[in-house]
Amino acid sequence: MSKNQRRIETKCVQGGYTPGNGEPRQVPIIQSTTFKYATSEDMGKLFDLEASGYFYSRLQNPTCDTVAAKICELEGGSAAMLLSSGQAASFFAVFNIASVGDHVVSSASIYGGTYNLFAVTMKKMGIEFTFVDPDCTEEELNAAFRPNTKAVFGETIANPALTVLDIEKFAKAAHAHGVPLIVDNTFATPIHCRPFEHGADIVTHSTTKYMDGHGVAVGGCIVDSGNFNWMAHADKFPGLCTPDESYHGITYAEKFGQGGAYITKATAQLMRDFGATQSPQSAFYLNLGLESLHVRMERHALNGRKVAEFLESSDKITWVNYPSLPSNKYYERTKKYMPNGTCGVVSFGVKGGRAAAEKFMKALKLIAIETHVADARSCCLHPASATHRQMNEQELIAAGVPGDLVRLSCGLENYQDLIDDLTQALESI
Ligand SMILES: *Cc1c(COP(=O)(O)O)cnc(C)c1O
Repeated sequence: MSKNQRRIETKCVQGGYTPGNGEPRQVPIIQSTTFKYATSEDMGKLFDLEASGYFYSRLQNPTCDTVAAKICELEGGSAAMLLSSGQAASFFAVFNIASVGDHVVSSASIYGGTYNLFAVTMKKMGIEFTFVDPDCTEEELNAAFRPNTKAVFGETIANPALTVLDIEKFAKAAHAHGVPLIVDNTFATPIHCRPFEHGADIVTHSTTKYMDGHGVAVGGCIVDSGNFNWMAHADKFPGLCTPDESYHGITYAEKFGQGGAYITKATAQLMRDFGATQSPQSAFYLNLGLESLHVRMERHALNGRKVAEFLESSDKITWVNYPSLPSNKYYERTKKYMPNGTCGVVSFGVKGGRAAAEKFMKALKLIAIETHVADARSCCLHPASATHRQMNEQELIAAGVPGDLVRLSCGLENYQDLIDDLTQALESI
């Protein structure tokens, strides 16, 4: 059986690394900044991208590459790279194909940090973003494109709004305009959704969340499907389809082909110049998390669903948002894209508004208050009194974060213990 035919659980455990005789069974941590060569000619070939190999860990490191190869297998891609954070992954994924004077279409329902990166920081770099309602019609979506549009961006399950992206609709519009669709697959993970199977071209991750799963290491990843034909749209992507003067005139799409060009360019240019590398030690931790990703995601999704069902039945709760609930707006879309479950994050409104939500949170004993989501320990956040505390009641509603909203990230505990904790805290209000 070839490696690619193996099932996803097997890829989680053994993907990316096949040790030879007498080599370490566990992925070794190559904690070395630099690599030794016998001659300058040998090293020169690496600098010219004439040979593949390691010379400096800012560009590539064997531990990081091994773990990237595992994530590449999980997503079903052609090439992948690790980065220092999810933010770095989102930035590199777009900046690799867009520069000053270009334009990108993005779903408006995305992680706040990504929104800020796009709407403020990348705007200062001369890249303009149009944010569209993820539930807009095809006509509205097509109308957002301009002649200088270079990519489309969205999140499989958006953090924190929990909207579910219609990946096929977004991919169709992107391809009709000759550009790739980039999907942030952080919340679903490749266990529950593989965006490439629905037409996405590039996937990004904040591996800080479920992929790591234990809250130990900040990290990011970019995976290329190898499906986007850059050369067929060479006028739009000169960075991939014309010679790179900083690498002696090589043309990435010619030299590395459709499956290798995008990640090679992001590594050779962006990693070289920005240095947002993941440390080998962090990559090792990430790999430990990946080894149980399939087991953990099943439990996160079960706990999320059980807790969401409990909340929906409680008379102290005004509304519940969880994509796998039959009452959810995205239930049908969720069944199509994530038939085996979604994630452990649930949001809900507490009867009595902001004051009641604060009192409820204070009364929780097992579930901790944290800004983090998506690790083994359950945690929750009241955005109106934490991340969004500068906003007044009207601004909160406009941001999709009403004062009564509590975001709960269900960990891997027994779900009945989570329900018991929620029950006693709700009784206190
Ligand atoms: C957390 C998060 C990010 C940012 O990732 P960091 O690792 O914190 O930089 C990006 N996208 C999504 C969906 C996230 O949840």
